[in-house]
Amino acid sequence: MSKPIIATASLAGCFGCHMSFLDIDERILDLVELVQWGKSPINDIKTFQQDCDIALIEGGCCNDEHIHTLREFRKHCRILVAVGECAIMGGLPAMRNNIPIKECLEEAYLNSPSTSDANPDKIFPNDEELPMLLDKVYPCHEIVKMDYFLPGCPPRADLIYGALVALVTGQEAELPYEVVKFD
Ligand code: SF4
Repeated sequence: MSKPIIATASLAGCFGCHMSFLDIDERILDLVELVQWGKSPINDIKTFQQDCDIALIEGGCCNDEHIHTLREFRKHCRILVAVGECAIMGGLPAMRNNIPIKECLEEAYLNSPSTSDANPDKIFPNDEELPMLLDKVYPCHEIVKMDYFLPGCPPRADLIYGALVALVTGQEAELPYEVVKFD
């Protein structure tokens, strides 16, 4: 029987969730026994060669490229897992959601101490290849159906590993109380 195929994506995140995944250390060798790898920044495979069984999604959606990527993952993956607070709730990037986008752009490119001198012509980046910013940062489940949610910033490596093995082997994933409670 062929092994399940796992894919991963990083949208509007900091790659901390991927780093936490890699913190499973030598258990990645156990994982290699259980799964095959599909499209992921971990192996730098950039396109879907075939449909995947499970995808781990880091980050929410802050531009149109993220929306496109997430929809592609939904189309090509049987199970989508939102990994970390950015994917689940928008996380840190969603702090901009209460600020008009014009103000965000002015702060980033015109007014902040690090950019005001470097941008004397007061230009907003406008190359047509740049993705368009959305009006706000959206959690993944507001764009496509997500099947599972792994909380944490980032979720700890044990949690990611345990959930992945549970999904691959058809067991129930453990979600201890301390990872879902809020202080
Ligand atoms: Fe980074 Fe935390 Fe967001 Fe993961 S949840 S992408 S670690 S900020």
